Amino acid sequence: MKKNILKIAAVCAMSALMISALAGCGATKDKKDDTTASADKLVMATNAEFPPYEYHENDKIVGIDAEVAQAIADKLGMELEIDDMAFDSIIPAVQSGKASIGVAGMTVTEDRLVNVNFSDTYAHGKQVIIVKDGSPIASPDDLKGKKVGVQTSTTGDIYITDDYGDESVERYQKGADAIQALLQDKIDAVVIDSEPAKVFVSENEGLKTVETPYVEEDYAIALAKDNTELLDKINSVLAELKQDGTIDKIISKYITSK
Ligand code: GLN
Repeated sequence: MKKNILKIAAVCAMSALMISALAGCGATKDKKDDTTASADKLVMATNAEFPPYEYHENDKIVGIDAEVAQAIADKLGMELEIDDMAFDSIIPAVQSGKASIGVAGMTVTEDRLVNVNFSDTYAHGKQVIIVKDGSPIASPDDLKGKKVGVQTSTTGDIYITDDYGDESVERYQKGADAIQALLQDKIDAVVIDSEPAKVFVSENEGLKTVETPYVEEDYAIALAKDNTELLDKINSVLAELKQDGTIDKIISKYITSK
């Protein structure tokens, strides 16, 4: 029942062909819609409900993804703008050109690759199961026949729907809302990425994470299929930021335990 783990290198094929064909496309969009990403602005679509990758602190959006995107923008000499939206709006925003990148602890999946390209991986994640203390659920197989809370359109949603059917899934706009439903015994478990899981478990008494993870994943930056020029630039900047330790430094600032 475990999903195959995708180990996907950058999807750069056909870039040479497409760059020239689509060079004029962005310019047209810029003219008719000034919220559309422009050449000197890097517009990041995210869903700031996903600590420690992106969350609100006072009136700012902070976290690993915000800092990784800022480091990329600095290297490219671009100004970063962060647009907060529902998780399931991120890919459409990237596809339409309203945002130049989607950075949201987003897992590379085959289905998403039909609609967007992904950069090289910059972090790893796991889908884990959160239950209340004393729950009989001790492994992914125990989820059968249970009500499982997920954030809409995330991989947790996709995997639980695939493995246990639509009738097992309760969808919420925010992971935090799924956690509230679990605390109120409306559902039996929450499936969510491991780092937000740590934050939610530490902030709420009576919850624990099941030891066996459900699925392991890679996070990457989503870009429009036609924006291979920016994809190439981001991949080379990411390589530099990995090489010089910047990515590790950002991640360990937010993730202290292993
Ligand atoms: N990694 C999960 C996904 O890509 C969840 C991401 C999120 O909720 N921000 O679907």
